[in-house]
Amino acid sequence: MEYNITLLKGDGIGPEIVESAAAVLEKTGEKFGHKFNFTNCLIGGCAIDETGIPLPPETVETCLASDSVLLGAVGGPKWDDQPGDNRPEKALLGIRSAMGLYTNLRPAKLYPALRSASPLKDSIVGRGFDIMIVRELTGGIYFGDRGYRQGKFGREAFDTEAYSVTEIERIGKIAFDTAMKRSMKVCSVDKANVLESSRLWRSTMHRLAENYPQVEYRDMFVDNAAMQLVRDPGQFDVIVTSNMFGDILSDEASQITGSIGMLASASLGEGSRGLYEPIHGSAPDIAGTGKANPIAAVLSGAMMLRLSFGLGDEAESIEQAVDKVLNDGFRTADIMSENCKALNCMEMTERILDNI
Ligand code: NAD
Repeated sequence: MEYNITLLKGDGIGPEIVESAAAVLEKTGEKFGHKFNFTNCLIGGCAIDETGIPLPPETVETCLASDSVLLGAVGGPKWDDQPGDNRPEKALLGIRSAMGLYTNLRPAKLYPALRSASPLKDSIVGRGFDIMIVRELTGGIYFGDRGYRQGKFGREAFDTEAYSVTEIERIGKIAFDTAMKRSMKVCSVDKANVLESSRLWRSTMHRLAENYPQVEYRDMFVDNAAMQLVRDPGQFDVIVTSNMFGDILSDEASQITGSIGMLASASLGEGSRGLYEPIHGSAPDIAGTGKANPIAAVLSGAMMLRLSFGLGDEAESIEQAVDKVLNDGFRTADIMSENCKALNCMEMTERILDNI
């Protein structure tokens, strides 16, 4: 098969890590008989330098015309004095909304080989963990009615959490379908003991769960979920939750892996096209030094193959290559530990390529 992929390298370490990911995709394509056509487009600070704005219309058009999009990262001190609506990061919201992406999938996986990187005790994370957080991305309190008004104690500000059955159903289906391809467990996180919107969330999820009898389903209050993530993260497979709860819990889950340079993400909407990106930023402190860990970008490419193109075996071959390199004791500086061999970004990419 042939696929058109837009590459948005962005700023800082973005170009280095996206080039690594593209090389890994290319090699995987050769192995399995696919052709990936890459088109580079500007986004973020480099787009401001070239065109004056962080998200040029040609970038949006090219993304919408492609089969999927791989993004590095945007931003850096060079553009810190840009006005708020012209900052590099503004392009992220712009491209997500132009592509109609309402789901965010964030895996938080602790590789047994990297367990010393986790801030949690060995007794808690000794067997590793592999969680997929499915976060609703375009609804809830971040998008609800807001403003100022006169309240009981004078002037007050308000934000509104609102979810429709349609929004809950579409994110719920993604969570259940994702679990069907993993360990068949879904935990839906809400605050149904307090919030009306959570009660609708919960009853809708229960109805959906009836269509997936193979999946072990449970509900959890968000405060308990925040505790359980640090007490016993291995109990979770897929967590599905609202925009704000997902924002907080996905950051907590990535912190307990201890290695920001390893974590990929996917944002999806209707249809198969998605936006795939590492969860980390542009790391201006190490840009151009060769210290960047390319694995988060490489694994974002693997997610693209699985979720946008349905190429599960191809994705697995990338994931297994990463596992092998880590098990062989190769590390970039950010995940370095005793008795391991230090590699720069390019060397790590070559090791992964050797194992595809
Ligand atoms: P950051 O994620 O860029 O860096 C945090 C720390 O992690 C730094 O010490 C960095 O060196 C390290 N790090 C990050 N990725 C790494 C990798 N792949 N390999 C090795 N080390 C890595 O976060 P920050 O410093 O808060 O932000 C820097 C810039 O990135 C800011 O302009 C911020 O707005 C932007 N940002 C962009 C995105 C995005 O594009 N999606 C996300 C977050 C931050």
